[in-house]
Amino acid sequence: MDREAIVALATPPLRSALLVVRSSGAGVLSVLADLMGRPSVLSIQERTSLVGLLRDSEGRPLDQVVALAYPSGKSSTGEEVVEIIAHGNPLIGERIIKAFLAKGARMAKPGEFTLRAFLNGKMDLVEAEAVNALIGSASEEGASLSLVALEGSSSKELETALEAIASLLASIETSIDFPEFEDLEKDLHSKILRETPLVIKKLEDLVSQGKAATTVIKGVDVAIVGLPNVGKSSLLNALLGEERAIVTDIPGTTRDVVTGEIVHKGVPIRFLDTAGVRSSDDPVEQKGIEKGEEAIRKADVVLVVSDIRDGEEPALPEGIRSPIIHVRNKADLAHKDSGGVSASAINGEVAGVLDAIVSALSLDKVRLNSPALVSERQLDLVSRASRSLKEAVRLSGERAPLSLVALPVQEAHALLKEVLGASSSSDIEDEIFSRFCVGK
Ligand code: GDP
Repeated sequence: MDREAIVALATPPLRSALLVVRSSGAGVLSVLADLMGRPSVLSIQERTSLVGLLRDSEGRPLDQVVALAYPSGKSSTGEEVVEIIAHGNPLIGERIIKAFLAKGARMAKPGEFTLRAFLNGKMDLVEAEAVNALIGSASEEGASLSLVALEGSSSKELETALEAIASLLASIETSIDFPEFEDLEKDLHSKILRETPLVIKKLEDLVSQGKAATTVIKGVDVAIVGLPNVGKSSLLNALLGEERAIVTDIPGTTRDVVTGEIVHKGVPIRFLDTAGVRSSDDPVEQKGIEKGEEAIRKADVVLVVSDIRDGEEPALPEGIRSPIIHVRNKADLAHKDSGGVSASAINGEVAGVLDAIVSALSLDKVRLNSPALVSERQLDLVSRASRSLKEAVRLSGERAPLSLVALPVQEAHALLKEVLGASSSSDIEDEIFSRFCVGK
């Protein structure tokens, strides 16, 4: 049974060539049949396209449209679906939505179309999250990684691991049920020690590839710090390849956290210029410094810039856990190599800095065609599953009773099921799908 009908604009509410309104749920084909005066839509068996005049619920002409009609079971949500392609005036989009609302549909919540696809078994949670990652990716590479997950390769890897764990669990349970067969128990311990590390390796690969993938998808934040006049603003400009920050010869004038974004080797990189790390009595400057310190702590990478001639660096705020890259700027003025990454902002020689950022986060190793996990939720659950399996291997190595070994194996099984959404709660689903845009 289809759920209640929902409707939303699937394209941004801007003037454009075309817009798309999407509706899914019980009775939406009948709404379309009414609004277009085409009762034959009610009996379609396959996806069908219609071209013609769409009217509002009172019969007033709305627009000349193309409508795609999907019968229940033949659409992306699994329900009856209508997609209307109209001329791209937001007022038309609004009126089409109103016509559907007048016929009993309600506005869709963020991600609700994808949620329905998940609830109707059209995709698992890993694939659903990949939809969001694909839309949110800031680089082509991030989009390719999301697409691999969307097409189900990541899910397949997880399912293979899940099957291996399930079969192990079944053997353990059989053996617990027949304690009189001691050989069975011995064989099982060696099976666990032989096979489980392979599953752990697979899960760890998914996690390490996934960490890089999620970073490539969301991009990295890079803070730039250094004493006054070492060339931070110049470096930022050179990195961005355009005039963005204000360059001056007077120390301490860069007060705001300036951001700019570029894509280097497929990694979206956002730069946060900071006010410099030092104290000041000027309240305006002090505020800038606090903002800067916060940016430094939040950054994924910290660039500590110094003048190559003296290499002097500021004291950094406490609590930085991200990689730190020492950039020796003004290399054009130096006669010797001084270690670290050298740059000459004034001559635009900064490629080494960008490469260093990408390799500090091991993002040069990300394989674009390999299955990856694309959300923090997935990474957390899969890491926990692999830790549980390690615990099982440890216990098995000590020849612990199988009833004890079974516990972490059961845990790993439950965690992987949760990743795929086979045992998720509606709270988790709400949390995940509320991050989507409306109409998706
Ligand atoms: P900030 O205070 O650290 O942001 O430094 P600025 O970017 O404002 O630069 C301070 C001064 O150093 C300016 O006169 C820049 O032209 C100069 N400068 C910056 N980078 C370089 C460089 O790579 N080589 C040379 N020779 N001068 C530079």
